[in-house]
Amino acid sequence: MIQDIGEGVFSNAFSLEPAKEGDLLFCFRGNDILVTGDENDPLLPLYGQLTPPCHHIFSLGGIGCYISEEILKTPEGYFYVKAPDLARTANDRKTAFAVVTAWQLSKWEQSRRFCGRCGAETERSAIERAMICPKCGLIEYPKICPAVITAITHKGKLLMARNKNSAPGRYGLIAGFVEIGETFEETVRREAMEEVGLKLKNIKYVRSQPWGFSDSQMIGFTAELDGDDDTLIIQESELAEACWFAPDEVPLPSSDISIAATLIKDFLNEHGI
Ligand SMILES: [Zn+2]
Repeated sequence: MIQDIGEGVFSNAFSLEPAKEGDLLFCFRGNDILVTGDENDPLLPLYGQLTPPCHHIFSLGGIGCYISEEILKTPEGYFYVKAPDLARTANDRKTAFAVVTAWQLSKWEQSRRFCGRCGAETERSAIERAMICPKCGLIEYPKICPAVITAITHKGKLLMARNKNSAPGRYGLIAGFVEIGETFEETVRREAMEEVGLKLKNIKYVRSQPWGFSDSQMIGFTAELDGDDDTLIIQESELAEACWFAPDEVPLPSSDISIAATLIKDFLNEHGI
């Protein structure tokens, strides 16, 4: 998964330490990020090569990671690429995870420039990763939206669904955001009923994953169909199709960065594939 970059490599400890030469710089322009080097394997700029005003966001293998507080005009030898594309395709998993996490923080900082309660300009907290309103005191923490994702099985088959916006052949698992007042297990039940009309049993937590692409924390479950009626009633506003797949028919995910890919792999491993 995208966050699997080795034990202890990523540290989100808050720091006010200023950037020094050789630290990594994340310079965003909306959803674009500044890079240098080869177009097919771009590198992140290092502090020293560029010296914009910036602040610490996290560290990676002991190297400080800093976000630029200014939108830079493209310096010579540098170019902008789409941050989510770079995070999905970077050859180096550490770069992929750092880019998506920095992008998540950049989106959050941009959307919290003004207080949502009184409209005053916010400031970065000096003691924790938060934006504070100097006028009314409102504190905003980074946006992390919990969402569940479930590998639903019945009689040795796995349920997979294709989102309305996904290309033909691109199947995923049933997933959805946690709503107010719900436990994760209740979200699993509700999403299965809403999206495919199924009642579930044996709902079991498996693992989780930070997923900065959608400001989410994905919480992965397995569950079984409760009863024998495996008829699928598709929620047409969300899904194009859904099917039960035998292990040897399961469409394989295009990459291994997501928790969905890992849950599908677990199912195949259980069936000796
Ligand atoms: Zn305020």
